[in-house]
Amino acid sequence: MDVTVWQKKTMLKLIVCIKQVPMVSELPWDARTGTLKREIAEGMMNPACKHALEAALQLKHKHDAHITALTMGPTMAGEVLYEALTLGADQGILLTDKRMAGADTLVTSLILSRAIKKECPDFDLILCGSQTSDSETAQVGPQLAEELDIPGAAYIENLEIKNRTIRIKRLADDFLETLEMDLPGLVTVTTGNFHPRYASLGGLEDAFNRDDIKTLDADSLGLDRKLIGIKASPTKILDVFSPTANKENIVIKGAVKKIVEDIFETYGDKIGGAMEKDLKTHEHND
Ligand SMILES: Cc1cc2nc3c(=O)[nH]c(=O)nc-3n(C[C@H](O)[C@H](O)[C@H](O)COP(=O)(O)OP(=O)(O)OC[C@H]3O[C@@H](n4cnc5c(N)ncnc54)[C@H](O)[C@@H]3O)c2cc1C
Repeated sequence: MDVTVWQKKTMLKLIVCIKQVPMVSELPWDARTGTLKREIAEGMMNPACKHALEAALQLKHKHDAHITALTMGPTMAGEVLYEALTLGADQGILLTDKRMAGADTLVTSLILSRAIKKECPDFDLILCGSQTSDSETAQVGPQLAEELDIPGAAYIENLEIKNRTIRIKRLADDFLETLEMDLPGLVTVTTGNFHPRYASLGGLEDAFNRDDIKTLDADSLGLDRKLIGIKASPTKILDVFSPTANKENIVIKGAVKKIVEDIFETYGDKIGGAMEKDLKTHEHND
């Protein structure tokens, strides 16, 4: 998938919000706070954030663009910024402070917006992942757009920029929507397109030798402790558990003709619905 910039004008200032997520899903939870014990997990860049970064890198390839990678998390979250620098981001900003720990999506958006207003107020486009692999709320992108009072579009599959307008394609149920919005704006990128490139080991070494990562805490952002962290977060996790599947196996015996008749008699409605959906998708893709 390619990004087209129709007219090269001034430098496009892009911000990519990246969350570091645990490498594996089977990790212990802190039952008291309802948060993941991520300090014992190995981290990686959230998959959808990789696609958002790739979209930004493709814009940079076509255009005169500058990419800031922004992350909030424990100090180890800075690793994803080095990865972003290796892949082609120009600078990284790490927001880390024990007082910010346990932030829910609302407080996370507030802190990210504060950092953006302070460090990159003249941005053109913010790219977020559509959702994370560890919490999956998909709320931070839209809430961040709201905090910054800019237009936003979620779950995008493709984008083009013309002058100060961005044209977006996204799949909504069975439809492919084309939207336009003015910059500055925010998009959240799905894992459907913008397939991430690989980071080279040599590039990673270079990134560690560069001095392009800035670390900010709550004080440097002028954030009142009453506004941040778990106490300021209205979302409370009441319980965390693994869902159990209640599936029943049914064995249908007899001649093939009889089996097919039985299946259609029992599951005809469901099969009909699925076939209709499949037909629409194929018509739409053709
Ligand atoms: C010290 C400290 C400890 C933390 N510990 C935890 C923890 O244990 N568990 C946990 O889930 N979170 C932790 N966070 C981060 C924060 O609480 C979450 O990022 C936030 O709640 C995101 O929710 P989500 O995963 O549902 O995001 P979603 O809304 O699903 O994320 C969508 C997109 O928003 C952007 N985004 C989301 N979070 C961040 C972020 N932190 N930085 C940059 N971009 C982001 C990304 O582009 C992402 O793809 C910690 C933060 C700090 C400062």
